[in-house]
Amino acid sequence: MQERSGLISIAVPCFNEQKGIRHFVETLTPVLETLGHPYEILFVDDGSTDDTLAILTVLANADPRLKVIGLTRNFGKEAALTAALDFVSGDAVIPMDADLQDPVELVPCMVARWEAGAEIVLAHRQARPGDSAARRWAARRFYRIISRLSAIPIPADVGDFRLIDRKVVECVRQLPEKTRFMKGILAWPGFHSETLEFTRPPRQTGGSKWPLWKLFNFALDGIFSFSTAPLRVWTYLGVALSLFSLGYLLWVMGKTLLLGVDVPGYASTLSVILFFNGIILIGLGILGEYLGRVFVEVKGRPVYLVKSTVGFDTKT
Ligand code: UDP
Ligand code: MG
Repeated sequence: MQERSGLISIAVPCFNEQKGIRHFVETLTPVLETLGHPYEILFVDDGSTDDTLAILTVLANADPRLKVIGLTRNFGKEAALTAALDFVSGDAVIPMDADLQDPVELVPCMVARWEAGAEIVLAHRQARPGDSAARRWAARRFYRIISRLSAIPIPADVGDFRLIDRKVVECVRQLPEKTRFMKGILAWPGFHSETLEFTRPPRQTGGSKWPLWKLFNFALDGIFSFSTAPLRVWTYLGVALSLFSLGYLLWVMGKTLLLGVDVPGYASTLSVILFFNGIILIGLGILGEYLGRVFVEVKGRPVYLVKSTVGFDTKT
């Protein structure tokens, strides 16, 4: 066991959080002050259309431990978190949501585990009473599917709330992909991880920015970014269908030679054609998903653009 000391960075993506952001800082600060480590809280304003950035700027001007990055527009939470990881300078980094759904009481436990040698401390959601039954069901399905398909293990029921050692952050910074599925990206480097259990409380202010359809698209992003299994399915399906067609061909030929030609109905032919056209379209759609991702990567556009920073004058 080695004792570690060093800067703790809290990385907070914020989008339209004006109602709760002060309360978040007021709740988090006393906890961080008990850690016995220096700390910084880095907020990334993800193009909020309310006063979030103005409030954060006032807070950061009053406290040198607060830093703010303002993005030029809303790039999405994954991009905001990527920006946060690029700008933090801590020896351990903890990404947190601004809505207090990630309990601040867990931070000292995470830091204690890190001091004792853990390189990653995951916060596992035992229960999420704030979410609807449909959402919980969808989340369960998603984790089950992705854990089957993904080549690397992506921990189930673990959000972005976790402690990551600087070593891991350095690895994550090297990943150049533009489709930022952070749950996968944060899991990709490996390293020694430990897990803490918690119950996810409901949001304190405002509403979730993730309607169910957005979550669904996010889940597809995760699956297509971290697995090529959906492509392989078509190889297997193609082989199976070809073998079946060959058998059928032989059977028809044999039957024709022995019994002569009979006049088949067109309904069966039509349904077979429709069925296979459907299958081909699904296959094309899946190919398109991967092609779209290649397109995004090839363009090589930055994941986010920074318009303003507060609290960084002394370094970088
Ligand atoms: N967020 C963001 N950009 C977005 C949407 C959300 O930076 O486009 C931030 C948001 O301010 C919050 C965190 O991401 O701090 C999680 O968002 P939310 O609470 O809506 O997600 P949920 O808890 O429902 O998964
Ligand atoms: Mg939330």
